[in-house]
Amino acid sequence: MDYRDTPEEAAFRQSLRGWLANNTIEGWKDIPEDDIPRYKAMRKQWQRMLYDAGYLALTWPVEYGGRGQSPTYEAILNEEVGRASAPPLPGMINYLGRAIFTYGTHEQKLRFLPTLLNGDVQWCQGFSEPSAGSDLASLRTRAVLDGDHYVVNGQKMWTSGAIYADWCLLLVRTNTEVPKHKGISCLLMPMDSPGVTARPIYLHSGSPETAEVFLDDVRVPAENRIGAEGDGWRLAMTTVSFERGAADVGFIANLGHQLEALKREINERGLADDVAIRRRLAQAYVDTRVLTANVARQLSMRVSGRDPGPEGSVGKLLWSRAAQGMAQLGLDVAGADALTGRESEWLSDYFTTRPTSVYGGSSQIQKNILARMLDMPRE
Ligand SMILES: Cc1cc2nc3c(=O)[nH]c(=O)nc-3n(C[C@H](O)[C@H](O)[C@H](O)COP(=O)(O)OP(=O)(O)OC[C@H]3O[C@@H](n4cnc5c(N)ncnc54)[C@H](O)[C@@H]3O)c2cc1C
Repeated sequence: MDYRDTPEEAAFRQSLRGWLANNTIEGWKDIPEDDIPRYKAMRKQWQRMLYDAGYLALTWPVEYGGRGQSPTYEAILNEEVGRASAPPLPGMINYLGRAIFTYGTHEQKLRFLPTLLNGDVQWCQGFSEPSAGSDLASLRTRAVLDGDHYVVNGQKMWTSGAIYADWCLLLVRTNTEVPKHKGISCLLMPMDSPGVTARPIYLHSGSPETAEVFLDDVRVPAENRIGAEGDGWRLAMTTVSFERGAADVGFIANLGHQLEALKREINERGLADDVAIRRRLAQAYVDTRVLTANVARQLSMRVSGRDPGPEGSVGKLLWSRAAQGMAQLGLDVAGADALTGRESEWLSDYFTTRPTSVYGGSSQIQKNILARMLDMPRE
């Protein structure tokens, strides 16, 4: 593994750094996430800026509006944006776009990809249901063909961004007579369709980041089905396998910021000789380094042409462990100051990192996947 940039990558990094130094959204961190119009406008504006500057869809094929570059460029983008403390990258477009350009018809690609990229249309991913999270294949939201429309009834759960989204990539059951994985299809559904109700789930921060989505006799044109009937499971698996990867590099940049902040904090509070704290700081450092090495390994697999596979589960486990460990240590070091507001970022980080071991597939499920890969006995 060679961690150094090639001359072309170094030039890309340099010009991106210059761009980021002059382009951000001032005060974006102060926009309350429950101020939906302002928050949505900020996200769209940031996406538009990145798009106009040519920094989105770096790895997509050129014919779909991408740049056809290697995954290393995507990693550099994530790293530099994380370092610059700029607003987060619009993460969903990469894997939703991949689903559309891999499974969509020519018309669907022309219709959906340009506005997905430039941010004019915001999307959410309606996969999980109240009784179908880890066991996604048992989802029950039903879609029945009625003429040239599907009539959809059911409920989705934890749909991130549903409150801001214009469209949803929706998994539905179109056939109950076949084994559960084979009866699933995927629809592209406008969120303003009659019968769609998104009820926010407020996170600790007050953010309505996720939502329950109720679907009552929603009519979705059959032409909005993506992929063949029954192909939804394959599509979903392609989508989730691209959920991670280069994004981890941005998380590492953020963990690096946090490590530095923690070291300062520990010194200022006279805790540098506390053996337990020193040990935990060392663990946080090791966790970050292990994550970095794993990301580099995954990246070199992608660069050599391999699509992401089940080994992404290792990355998910390492990342959630590193993020949660760091935030917990920050909270413990800040102590009561985290509650009084002086060091409230640590409290916020603590709560933000709690669900990392649940969303995108829980830690237990990642371990099950790895156990299967290693031919270990079933649980
Ligand atoms: C903040 C947040 C954002 C999310 N965003 C989205 C989104 O945008 N779109 C979307 O579709 N979904 C989203 N999700 C849903 C997420 O994918 C599910 O929460 C996750 O897959 C777990 O499913 P569940 O919540 O139904 O828990 P369950 O599947 O009910 O699991 C409960 C517990 O049992 C354990 N468990 C379950 N089965 C097994 C097993 N076989 N072996 C061992 N342990 C097991 C789990 O690890 C977990 O600890 C989000 C979730 C959160 C918390």
